[in-house]
Amino acid sequence: MSLPLASPRSGRGSACGNAQIGNRPGFYIGPRRIGTACISLRGLFLYNIGMANKGMTAEEKKSVASFIDLASDLARGGYFLGEREYSFYDDSDIVDNHEKSTSSLQNCKACRLCERRKNVVPGEGAPNPLVMVIGEAPGADEDACGRPFVGKAGQLLDKMLASIGLSRESNCFIANIVKCRPPENRDPQPDEIAACAGFLECQIQTLKPRFILCVGRLSSQALLHSAEPIGKIRGKFMDFEAAGMTIPLIATYHPSALLRNEEYKRPAWDDLKLLRAALGAEGK
Ligand code: SF4
Repeated sequence: MSLPLASPRSGRGSACGNAQIGNRPGFYIGPRRIGTACISLRGLFLYNIGMANKGMTAEEKKSVASFIDLASDLARGGYFLGEREYSFYDDSDIVDNHEKSTSSLQNCKACRLCERRKNVVPGEGAPNPLVMVIGEAPGADEDACGRPFVGKAGQLLDKMLASIGLSRESNCFIANIVKCRPPENRDPQPDEIAACAGFLECQIQTLKPRFILCVGRLSSQALLHSAEPIGKIRGKFMDFEAAGMTIPLIATYHPSALLRNEEYKRPAWDDLKLLRAALGAEGK
């Protein structure tokens, strides 16, 4: 069964203003911006077909999913990605697996960040993301509601993603390298990053994004096992390798750095254009 992006089951709003799939934190079923209606329509199609497909063969399901993917790509005016490897009948496994690992995280005490958190912030977005955005750590706003990137930096991140046809409601998943807020918004320490790394790796393995966009120095350094400053890491694709997977990764400045320093906006835009070009090339 598919993960419906907008189905009759959507309607439960979270404290932070977005609907989630019942008790499945982290996955949207009710986009905050209904302007992505064609994507919602795709979700509805997939949901309904997923519910009614018991008599269909795997090949028939795949054909229908491919057609819907193609139609939604074109209707959205976004990237033409052709046939995708995933299809609707895989989504429930992805959601279930993510749900299991997310619920186990709620009581995690593997590092000292558990002591002052209000909420664990596992991440949220599409179950079959084109792009997984990985930041550093939840801040006060995120800690308060359990969702990633909801403050000013998050709003800027949403705008940055929208500028290249991406959104957490449709084709991105957004997470951090640590899932609990460091006190006073300090940087997460190496032992805290290491303690949380298994969950992030599990998320990447489960979600299988086509690309990873690291925002900020710490997440870029952690995923690439690098000590280079972000100014040297950004501006090019590198390979993220883990558990037999190789995923193209591009790093850029954290949105909060862009809010503090206008000079970073141009290079960040250059990085987004590189990602946009790679997404476009992928669809050829
Ligand atoms: Fe557990 Fe990660 Fe939170 Fe540390 S930051 S307590 S490892 S969930």
